Amino acid sequence: MGEIIGVVSGKGGVGKTTVTACLGAALSHAGHRVLLCDGDFGLRDLDLVLGVADEIIYDALDASEDKEYTNDAIVSIAKNLDFLPASQSARWEDIGRKKYKKLVRRLCDVYDYILIDAPAGIGKGIESILDLVSRCIVVTHPLWVSLRNGARMIQVCQEHNIRDFAIAFNAVPVDGEDIDLYDMLEVLRAEYVGAMIPYDEDILTYTQDGHLLDLASHEFRNVLAPLVDYVVTGDCW
Ligand code: ADP
Ligand code: MG
Repeated sequence: MGEIIGVVSGKGGVGKTTVTACLGAALSHAGHRVLLCDGDFGLRDLDLVLGVADEIIYDALDASEDKEYTNDAIVSIAKNLDFLPASQSARWEDIGRKKYKKLVRRLCDVYDYILIDAPAGIGKGIESILDLVSRCIVVTHPLWVSLRNGARMIQVCQEHNIRDFAIAFNAVPVDGEDIDLYDMLEVLRAEYVGAMIPYDEDILTYTQDGHLLDLASHEFRNVLAPLVDYVVTGDCW
């Protein structure tokens, strides 16, 4: 039986989609069967990051009829790595949220890990995602605006009885002089860190070229190792 994990932040642009894609690639490389779900209905971009935007020819989840959602929309990305896109036009408010949740829960029979790339904000989408997940990875920049949003996100997780989460500090400046990890954890009211991901121009370039997964599976592997550990063992540092 697989586990569903949310990649959340509160604030937009902090790296949820990047972390979802790279972590999914790392887990699948380690032999786990992984499904990545784009939970950003209406503003999807995980398809672009994974380099499969052209392969998504229809929005299976747009179907407004009464019938159940099926896994017809799933796209194969690599060995052990599949992808369930979000709709481009329909928002969370527009789709059959119960049917979507039923589909994702059913897919736990097929995958070891299902990672859901959450939208920014704390609207309907987040509510539905938090109904599905047992743990969350909270992505934040090491900046006060992101941290405050991250702290609020953690509160929202707790309101949904999710108390197991890892913090992924993303785009951490390489010199890192102004960063005080303990201050940041205090703002988040968290004790443990899941990962410190450096700011890296290659992420931008590889994403732009649709080759982020190449980066994730080679140069980036050590950086992601603590997050892979968190997913597999539940341990943070
Ligand atoms: P979100 O899903 O939270 O909105 P994205 O994953 O789309 O954020 O990232 C926003 C932008 O930041 C993208 O252009 C992405 O390539 C870039 N980015 C993400 N992480 C890093 C990083 N560690 N270093 C440099 N650029 C990054
Ligand atoms: Mg995103």
